[in-house]
Amino acid sequence: MGLIWGWTDGITAAIAFLFGGLWLSPDLDTRSKALHRWGRLGFIWWPYRRLIRHRSIWSHGPLIGTTVRLVNLLGWLILVIFLVPSLNLTVVTESAQQWMNNHPRQIITIALALESSTWLHLVLDGDPWPVEWSHRRNRSSNKLCTRDKRVQRHSISSSRSTNS
Ligand SMILES: [Zn+2]
Repeated sequence: MGLIWGWTDGITAAIAFLFGGLWLSPDLDTRSKALHRWGRLGFIWWPYRRLIRHRSIWSHGPLIGTTVRLVNLLGWLILVIFLVPSLNLTVVTESAQQWMNNHPRQIITIALALESSTWLHLVLDGDPWPVEWSHRRNRSSNKLCTRDKRVQRHSISSSRSTNS
């Protein structure tokens, strides 16, 4: 990223990648090191942990997982804006919108770095697919095994019938 767009974007990407890997990990769906890094703010991941099964598509799914975690953060941010009287949701939203319009490259850099850190996590998890996908794959491979056994039995019985 830094080689393509310059060193400031490289630093932005590095910070976003580290934040994504250490604080915004897919493993926030369980009592993990990433959860402990949030310290007293760890409670903000309680809904995420309660609603999402560990290693499900909603936490470990490519693109979906990062989106769900960002939506969770955004939800808490909106709640804080509502609760703090000096903050105005319209003013904050307009400021955020203006910043995003002025910094589209940084938004893309941050999004790519966060998603890359998720992909690194999925690869390091061993089986990079969410639990649902792994089950589906295992079921289809079991079907293949059953079919292979049927084919094997058929070939054995037909060889016996040709021998006799
Ligand atoms: Zn994981």
